[in-house]
Amino acid sequence: MKTPYYKETGQEVEIFDHIYKNKLPLLLKGPTGTGKSRFVEYMAHKMGKKLYTVACHEETSATDLIGRYIIKGAETVWIDGPMTKAVREGALLYLDEVAEARPDVIVALHSLTDHRRTLFIDKTGETVVADDSFMLIATYNPGYQKGFKELKPSTRQRFISFSFSYPVAKTEIEILTNETGVEEAIAKKLIKLGGKIRNLTELGLAETVSTRLLVDAAILIKSGLPIRLSCFVAIAEPLSDDIDVVEALKDLISLSI
Ligand code: ADP
Repeated sequence: MKTPYYKETGQEVEIFDHIYKNKLPLLLKGPTGTGKSRFVEYMAHKMGKKLYTVACHEETSATDLIGRYIIKGAETVWIDGPMTKAVREGALLYLDEVAEARPDVIVALHSLTDHRRTLFIDKTGETVVADDSFMLIATYNPGYQKGFKELKPSTRQRFISFSFSYPVAKTEIEILTNETGVEEAIAKKLIKLGGKIRNLTELGLAETVSTRLLVDAAILIKSGLPIRLSCFVAIAEPLSDDIDVVEALKDLISLSI
């Protein structure tokens, strides 16, 4: 498989390498669509490591991560969940939006995120010591969106962490052209538009335009959809459900592009 395209935006690769080498857990903070998942896929590929990804939501329980007994014919057999597999195999475990998961997930993380690096499987009574090359990476979107759960300070302090944000214009233009093949002149227009929207705090957007949305607009443009229309459907509409806000964004797009 080809290495996923990832453009470094700071010193994240260097930081990641040191965290891995020292067997520490990592928390990536920041709004959606800023490249956190892509970064982890890239690092896993670069290091030649297996990556277990779990998109956490409010129903995600420790059982989903650790494992469960299932009935197979006349027998009951234990099936490891993704966390247990990663711990045993020495893989990377990526828990996306970990704060969304049920509280028992956070409890299960305790012994894994300190010097013990162990996972206790209460259903089987087994204690699994993590392979030396196991690494836990979680993401968290701190207070950007209403309804998103907070991570307790005591949990946050178990991780080494750093924040992802919107890249500087030059980097974001490069991401757009590399990721979609769109012409540089168009990428520049999209980034300029992105910058304007990011400065519009008066619109009260829960989260503003991410690199993902700009990439989506560029994909549609590259595919032949008119530029303004591409921006309407890939940027204005996904940013808000409030008709007035969407109209204001469409006006801004029409003026800028
Ligand atoms: P997150 O996990 O932060 O929600 P993703 O990693 O899914 O965001 O990124 C969304 C999209 O944005 C990716 O699919 C990719 O197209 C693009 N992207 C964002 N940042 C980068 C980057 N630094 N390098 C390459 N692509 C990026």
